[in-house]
Amino acid sequence: MGFKKIPITNIHNNKTYKMPELAKVLKVCVSTIWNWVQKGLPVINRDSKPLYFDGHAVKEYLLKKHKSRKIFMQDHECFCVKCRKPREVVAESIKVFSLGYLDKNKFIRSIKIVGHCIRCGSTIVRFSTEGLLFGFLDYYMINRIDIIESKKQTPARRKGIHKSNERESN
Ligand SMILES: [Zn+2]
Repeated sequence: MGFKKIPITNIHNNKTYKMPELAKVLKVCVSTIWNWVQKGLPVINRDSKPLYFDGHAVKEYLLKKHKSRKIFMQDHECFCVKCRKPREVVAESIKVFSLGYLDKNKFIRSIKIVGHCIRCGSTIVRFSTEGLLFGFLDYYMINRIDIIESKKQTPARRKGIHKSNERESN
């Protein structure tokens, strides 16, 4: 399974691309670019041969496409890796951890919610902020929960954990 991310950031805003060039920087086939053109990827001039693409327009098109595909996760849901879907958690299984990590020398507080998927029972994790936590607990009608401090982790490890979560939830 797995998926390849299209390296959108390889595109330069102020550059004009020919189709094979664009395919190369985006690591896709020319036929994929053709497919996008049919679906609305803007070209500079439809009648020109070869076709030229404006970097900024391509970037915008791909970012929009990416956004519309993103799974929208509600505040009370966690992403279940087994179901491959956002799921509610079993209220009784919810545990909340307090984390912190260093980002450019700034210490950032975050919250890790762990629980069991209501559908398949797998352990699922959601990284969140203190602000979001209230809405989360409210949904499950939890008015008191102990927040477990995770003190053991070094800043580097904390950062690693945060990053790997981002990959999972996107
Ligand atoms: Zn599940």
